[in-house]
Amino acid sequence: MSVLWVLGAGQLGAMLKQAGTPLGIDVRPVDIESTETLPLAPTDIVTAEREEWPETVATKQLATHSNFVNLATFPQLADRLTQKQWLDRLELATAPWFPVESDSTATHAYEMLGDRVLMKRRRGGYDGKGQYWLKQSEGSEIPEDWKGQAIAEQAINFDEEVSLVGVRGKNGDTHFYPLTLNLHINGILYASISPLERLQPLQAKAEQMLSKLMDALDYVGVMAMECFRVGDDLLINELAPRVHNSGHWTQAGASVCQFENHVRAVTGLPLAPAEVKNQSIMVNLIGIDLDYNWLNLQGLELYWYKKEVRLGRKVGHLNFCSGNSSTLQKALEELNLPNPYPEALTWLKKNLPII
Ligand code: ATP
Ligand code: MG
Repeated sequence: MSVLWVLGAGQLGAMLKQAGTPLGIDVRPVDIESTETLPLAPTDIVTAEREEWPETVATKQLATHSNFVNLATFPQLADRLTQKQWLDRLELATAPWFPVESDSTATHAYEMLGDRVLMKRRRGGYDGKGQYWLKQSEGSEIPEDWKGQAIAEQAINFDEEVSLVGVRGKNGDTHFYPLTLNLHINGILYASISPLERLQPLQAKAEQMLSKLMDALDYVGVMAMECFRVGDDLLINELAPRVHNSGHWTQAGASVCQFENHVRAVTGLPLAPAEVKNQSIMVNLIGIDLDYNWLNLQGLELYWYKKEVRLGRKVGHLNFCSGNSSTLQKALEELNLPNPYPEALTWLKKNLPII
């Protein structure tokens, strides 16, 4: 029986492992700092829970295996410059942008993109880290160490943020979960809701956009597309060639979750459209201590990542799923979390449909 190796041993790797268990698939996340010689067999399969990695003893072994699925795609999407170039080439709408070069100036940025410009480092950014705002009103300049290392993007006055999680099989079949509504505070995802009937009119358009990309890359597995909704339009903010935080609700809310679908796709097993069970909500636990009292809340499932709790660090998430909106409203009422959670909980209560 072949093994599915996962490059990276964070929470996404752990949840992929969990999803492989009922399928009888031995999923083994590998810490990138591991110095062990991995017993890789030629028929084994390799996937990743992260889009980029340093060259280490562990990553060298995995990245030279002939069954590393999507190996060529990772560097294309991990670098925001080449990711944006892919979007432009495929004529997929994204925030207007330009590459920050060694001779780029803030004046040029304001001329091209307007008076608020967001610079994003080409590599390594996550949870809002690796961003730098240029504001004409404050006379911001481009710091030297951002030149050649970043892209500059127009500030988008979006109505809200949504994401699409899709999966593509080896035969080119695709399946998608319903669009998810996401709340980011300071660049970090705090909460998600799905499905939402009011987003249904955008579903087909979103699926076409992500399909175009996955087909062009001949991608296999789960990919997430984060978008800004501006009126009836979707602008792609960024792509993640992996399972994604905004798809965590599928663990409680869909018959086949994103993690199982990824495992199925990369191992060549049949994909099936997931049945969405009920209304789902996800709340990220960010810099919060574990509290088993949460388990008293009806409709709740806890995922604790066993990481050291630090300010701003994702250490777990809560999924809520129910066919009864008052159960969900009650759980949100009873969930007592510190700042900035009141904002996230109010947002959830406001966006929760009545069912
Ligand atoms: P992730 O953790 O999802 O990988 P990230 O830190 O890599 O996130 P982005 O997703 O690009 O970076 O940005 C984080 C958040 O910052 C977005 O979800 C959005 O709220 C805000 N943001 C990003 N780009 C823009 C933009 N052009 N205009 C306005 N807000 C933006
Ligand atoms: Mg993002």
